[in-house]
Amino acid sequence: MNFYDLVVVGGGPAGSSTAYCASQKGLKVLVLEKKKVPRFKLCAGCISKRISSYLPAGWEKLVLNRISSGVLGYAGNESLEIPAEEDIAYIIDRSEFDAFLLDKAQETGAHLLQECEFLHLEKEGERYRISTSKGVFYADYLVGADGFYSKVATSLGYRKNKFFKALEFFTDGELSHKVLIDIGIVKRGYAWIFPKGSKISVGIACTGNYDLTKALKDYAEKRGFKNITKVYGWYIPYAESSRDVFYGKERILLTGDAGNLTDPLLGEGIYYAVWSGKVAVDAITSSPSNPAENYKTLLKDLVSELVYAGKIARLGYRFQKVAYRMAKKGALKTYYRLLTGDVSYRELYRGGLLDFFKGLIYNYLWR
Ligand SMILES: Cc1cc2nc3c(=O)[nH]c(=O)nc-3n(C[C@H](O)[C@H](O)[C@H](O)COP(=O)(O)OP(=O)(O)OC[C@H]3O[C@@H](n4cnc5c(N)ncnc54)[C@H](O)[C@@H]3O)c2cc1C
Repeated sequence: MNFYDLVVVGGGPAGSSTAYCASQKGLKVLVLEKKKVPRFKLCAGCISKRISSYLPAGWEKLVLNRISSGVLGYAGNESLEIPAEEDIAYIIDRSEFDAFLLDKAQETGAHLLQECEFLHLEKEGERYRISTSKGVFYADYLVGADGFYSKVATSLGYRKNKFFKALEFFTDGELSHKVLIDIGIVKRGYAWIFPKGSKISVGIACTGNYDLTKALKDYAEKRGFKNITKVYGWYIPYAESSRDVFYGKERILLTGDAGNLTDPLLGEGIYYAVWSGKVAVDAITSSPSNPAENYKTLLKDLVSELVYAGKIARLGYRFQKVAYRMAKKGALKTYYRLLTGDVSYRELYRGGLLDFFKGLIYNYLWR
């Protein structure tokens, strides 16, 4: 029984979302996950409120912290706290969250094979022959949801060239309901302090060529963290134009980090991973003979969000002081509305452009 309609490589949020939606639509699905579940995934675990409608019922029980306030700092010297009127985001533990999503996919009928690594694929007639560390499987469709180092993507010839490098450590402390983001620390990126239940996560993400270990150490010291024991590092790919997206080919689609479907402003990836999983299934079921072309069309709204987030990132990180001033004047509150799903990145960008240029002129005349 090694024949499936769809094989999904990777059991993170992108893979589970794909498997969940596909089995709901009656497809026979196999998920291959190379690690034992639950598995550790380096992540700050902050999900924006707008993800809620994409998640299966019951996810709320996994929320460790409800976020209703944000502190934005500039260059470690100034900072401002702006409370929101409602919850704007939630903190979850990635091993629990990802295991929950995989459980839900299995409840809808998907099969999960853990500690099974995808190795390579070949086309055999109309099917894909998928070789893994636990044998060979056949499928009509394949979804690569295997994260940053996606073997499915590389087997299609894709090579990543846009990504954040990120370092993170976990320590004692409590923040409860707020997140801290500091800009003006690195050229194109930011540092953060987020709650994690009764602990906290401290990290830094940057796209430039930086000594990030030193930057994190300096930042942590400035913020009063002295004994940093273990620092973890990983990458966050991103797309800021449709050309950066790895859509896939023919009946092979790429979702989540495998497809670079991550926000170029802050590196938020879980929301886009889950969203792209759903779109991939819509692409397969509505155009069985050429889903990759259809996926490109159906993913337009998601990609448009990444494109506008990229425009904001390019301006905001280049002129960080101006961005900070704009946040103070109200842009942060509008950003909260993005997190709740009430405005899009497109609206945020278009609505803020005039203020940004005013801020830029002010910056040059009175700095
Ligand atoms: C330090 C850091 C902090 C972050 N913080 C946030 C945050 O607060 N909020 C947010 O939204 N995003 C955050 N992100 C980004 C987020 O973690 C990713 O965008 C998200 O995990 C993407 O989900 P995914 O399912 O595409 O990939 P992953 O979660 O990476 O899942 C891929 C899965 O594929 C499996 N796999 C890989 N290769 C194979 C193979 N050959 N065969 C079988 N299985 C395989 C892996 O074991 C893994 O389980 C952060 C990232 C980093 C590095």
